[in-house]
Amino acid sequence: MKCACPECKNDIDMSKYPKAAVSHVIECNTCGILLEITKIENGNVETEIVDEGK
Ligand SMILES: [Zn+2]
Repeated sequence: MKCACPECKNDIDMSKYPKAAVSHVIECNTCGILLEITKIENGNVETEIVDEGK
């Protein structure tokens, strides 16, 4: 699977998340932001930034 961070535009290492699924929260290994998976399609993972209310 492949996922580009919407914040820093780097690719996220999805090998850390072998069970990734929609609604799972993952962390960008480059900038550390939390992202919720919104869609997985054809090996591409779409995410949105998790708002922690900071
Ligand atoms: Zn990032």
